[in-house]
Amino acid sequence: MRAMYFFTGMADVAAATGNEELKKTLGRLWENVTKKRMYVTGGIGSQGDGERFTIDYDLPNDTCYTETCAAIGLAMWSLRMLALDPRAEYADIMERALYNNVLSGISEDGEHYFYVNPLMVKPDAAHFRRDHEDVETSRVKWFPCACCPPNVIRTLTGLGQYIYTQRDRRVYQHLYIGNETEIGDIRISCSTGMPWEGSASIRVSGEKPFELALRVPGYAKNLYLRVNGVPASPAIENGYAILPLKDGDAVEVRFEMPPQVLAANPRVTEDCGKACLVRGPLVYCAEEADNGPLLQDFRLDPSLGVEIQPSDLFGGIDLLRVRGTRTADTGDERLYLPYGETERKPAEMTLVPYFLWNNRGEGEMTVWMQAR
Ligand SMILES: [Zn+2]
Repeated sequence: MRAMYFFTGMADVAAATGNEELKKTLGRLWENVTKKRMYVTGGIGSQGDGERFTIDYDLPNDTCYTETCAAIGLAMWSLRMLALDPRAEYADIMERALYNNVLSGISEDGEHYFYVNPLMVKPDAAHFRRDHEDVETSRVKWFPCACCPPNVIRTLTGLGQYIYTQRDRRVYQHLYIGNETEIGDIRISCSTGMPWEGSASIRVSGEKPFELALRVPGYAKNLYLRVNGVPASPAIENGYAILPLKDGDAVEVRFEMPPQVLAANPRVTEDCGKACLVRGPLVYCAEEADNGPLLQDFRLDPSLGVEIQPSDLFGGIDLLRVRGTRTADTGDERLYLPYGETERKPAEMTLVPYFLWNNRGEGEMTVWMQAR
């Protein structure tokens, strides 16, 4: 978290002074943090001791620190990187942190918080093991060092600052979040189906023409744009579709975001042989509430497809259904047995967005699953 705030400050200094050496250093730090030391949820900080980074690719899922504040710091830093150099890859990471590790820091009722946001929890082990002492198995009301609760509230109530940045007569829209805003003489209103559907309707007004630079998310497939009902094929610059607009123009955005099965770099020991599910900006996880215990026993078969399942849970969200196998419950109590004797049977798992985990009581949770 302290590193994120420091890098955020460095980017502000680089923007104020134009110091090229500082910009280069920030670029190297970005590469290392986001390509070797970041969890798929946008979490950072592999170790509770020192609340710190450890070494490249060391990303344990159950003993990580991944503090809510650290992910907020990553979003803050991403926004400054966007101001220095508008590239959609910065916005992809900013969105990933905000929609996953930041949002998981607060409960659905808005009154309970996580400090540490692990990617795997077995509550009985977490209660007992010393190397899990930072892990809460349920969100709590408050902490002795309560940085995260006010920080997540501050971030959510100030979310507007993450949506747009401006350069002269060009406004960059980084996030698809419903909003109405005024930037100088430019007024923009946006309604959107995100994060469940890749769609947005944008209306603009203003005294003078301007350019709207719309982020094309890294996960978006088959982008389709219309301006005033006419299909548009704008230039794409660094992951942004550049649309020249004037008073009264209307933009319709459509893209597909099919569920994706992700693997990790083999250097990430803890994720070897595993897979996780993402859809658009959301990372999904399996919970005991939907799937019973022993989540790590499930073996995902990606070739059997992923189904999007609309549900009434949490006010109406899309679940994901995946298929694979689990060990048959034969009552076999042997601790060790000859390989291959374990009987496996076809099984399905229901996955919920990671940010919503642990809103239905304490239980096992995992983002990464074994995969064949
Ligand atoms: Zn904190």
